[in-house]
Order: sequence, then C-alpha cells, then structure tokens
Amino acid sequence: MINRDRIVQAFLDLVGIDSLSGDEDAIAAELERRLRALGLDAAQDAAGNVHARREGTGEPLLLSAHMDTVEPGRGIKPTWDGPDIIRSDGTTILGADNKAGCAVILEVLQSAIEDRAATRPIEVAISRGEEVGLVGAQNMDYNRISAKVAIVIDSGGPPSAIQGQAPYHYVYDIDVHGRAAHAGLEPEKGVPAITVAAEAVLGLPQGRIDFETTGNVGTIHGGLVRNAVPDFAHIEGEMRSMEFEKVESLVARARDHLAEVQTRNPGARLEHRFTLGYPGYKLEPGDPAADLLFGVLRELGMEPDPHPVGGGTDGNVFRGHGIAAVVIGRGGYNQHTKDEYLVIPEMLDCARVVEALVRKVD
Ligand SMILES: [Zn+2]
Repeated sequence: MINRDRIVQAFLDLVGIDSLSGDEDAIAAELERRLRALGLDAAQDAAGNVHARREGTGEPLLLSAHMDTVEPGRGIKPTWDGPDIIRSDGTTILGADNKAGCAVILEVLQSAIEDRAATRPIEVAISRGEEVGLVGAQNMDYNRISAKVAIVIDSGGPPSAIQGQAPYHYVYDIDVHGRAAHAGLEPEKGVPAITVAAEAVLGLPQGRIDFETTGNVGTIHGGLVRNAVPDFAHIEGEMRSMEFEKVESLVARARDHLAEVQTRNPGARLEHRFTLGYPGYKLEPGDPAADLLFGVLRELGMEPDPHPVGGGTDGNVFRGHGIAAVVIGRGGYNQHTKDEYLVIPEMLDCARVVEALVRKVD
C-alpha cells in the first residue's frame, strides 16, 4: 500500500540533494542506491540516466521521471504550509518538479515489494538534463527499454491532469559567412555578415502564427569589433506546432526565404540546419497509453483531463522512439518559480494511479 509518511520522507530526502541540470551525479547515485536497496539491478547508461527493472507478468510498463531541477535550486529548504502542502522557503524553487515524480516511482516499487504484489515488468528510466532540452532522454540507451508504453510522471496538478497534446518542435541554426575588412579604410572590400543575417531574421517565422503554431528567433551573435566589417553571424531559432504539416510548411518557408537571401547576397555564404528536436503527439482513443491510463483513472474515480501543453517533455522523445508515453500530474504547482509547492494528497493520488497501472497485469 502507498505509505504517506514514507513517500513524503523520500521526497524531502531527494529535495535535500541539489541536482541542477548538468550537476546530477549526486542525485543519480542516490536514486541508484535506493533502487538497489529495493533489490533492483539499477545502473546508469552512458548519458548518466538511471535505469532499473523489476520482473513481472505481462506487458512491461516504463515509469519515468527526470532527476534534474532548475535555478534557483541550491540549498532548498522545504517548509510545511499546513498539513498537506510543502513549499520552499521562498528563496528557491521547491523541486517537486520532479523529485515528486522520483518519489512516486520509488514508493510504487516499495509498495509492490512489501505487498508481494503481482505486477507487470516495471522498467524505470530517470533522466538527466530534462530542463535544458530533454538532453538525457535524447541520449538515453533505448536498448535497456523494452516497454512500448510509458508513464512520464512530470506534469503539474493532480494525476488526472494529463498532457493530451504536445507540439512538434523544430530547431534551427543559421551561419552567415561574410568577409572581413577595415570599416574605415576599405569597407567596400567587406561583406557584412550581420546585415545579411538581419535580412535572414526579418523573413523567419516569429511570434504566434496561429492558435497552435509559433516561431521564434532566439539568439543572434556576430561580429568581433566595432571597426571591422563582420565576417560572421550566427542565428538560433525554433518553430512549434501541434500539427506536423504546419511546422513542416514553416520550415519550407524559412528555407525558401534563406535561399532568396543567399541569391540577393552572392558575396555571403549561408549555411543552415533544421532539425526536428522532438515529435509532437495527440492522445486519441486507441492510443495504448491513453487507453490504459484513462481506464485506471476512471476505476479510481478520477476523470481524465487531457489538455494541450506548449512545451515538450521526455514523453515527446519517448514517442519518437516508438514508446507510447503519457505525462501525468504529480501534485506540483507553480513549477520553475520560488512559489512552487506540492499538494501531498495529489502526489499520493498519483502514486495510487501508478500503482494501479503496474498492478494491471491482465
Ligand atoms: Zn519537469
């Protein structure tokens, strides 16, 4: 049975270990230690993600969370606000995103062992670097995973709060090569890369394109000194849409525009790379993750509340690897702010839902 005191203590213990993205060695070691203490063969893959497996009956289920947290996230002091809410002391985030997800996974395993419960084979993957671009999930060792369905425990709100739709995400890099020259003595010999980059930027998709499609030029760097014609500029941007066709057509438009800029500026050289950072998805009836989760939620008296989310999670990356992933709430609110808090009864509900999922062996 899910044990409130035990899961709360595990949560507090994990929050006590600083784990900013890129600095996860201590928390990874602790998660590995706890999984081993439960008798699982925990190990890290080459990217430092923590994996473990518990044997069972039927179709395996992947339980996933991420171990890293955002700034300001050093020296977090969890503080009780009444009997059911834990906050930070107001100077840092709390880290319920996603220590609550990690605590849920540990508690579900512990409870299964204690109850000698029949479960599906449970695969665990706890990622690093989720908050800085899903780095751990992108570099995960998928040979360690056989599950075709994943529960990603990393959404705000109660477990019925489900990411029902997430966008397709393209990222791009553009290099503009010009030619350097002294700006005062012989500017006519130069090709100003920044000016060409400006032409490029003005034609790239930016802002809200429609209700489910956005574009952004996020950074531009270039030039070295005030008095030289700049020979280099670099642009980074992204595009998102809930509809694959829409983001594809934005990419095509951007490429056409860059080709035009190239034609107008024969002395410059433009290089660009467009990459699908992660695929989007829409939970629809017949999706194995949605069918499994929605059924269990209803059995437990909770009405699934899927809603679109504009950001990506490890779930998007899993889907790109053929694993039907669904992202559920674990009781956290105001993520990535100093006002972040955890509602313990909702974390417990999340643990009960995940427990019911792994115990659904038929
Ligand atoms: Zn998160």
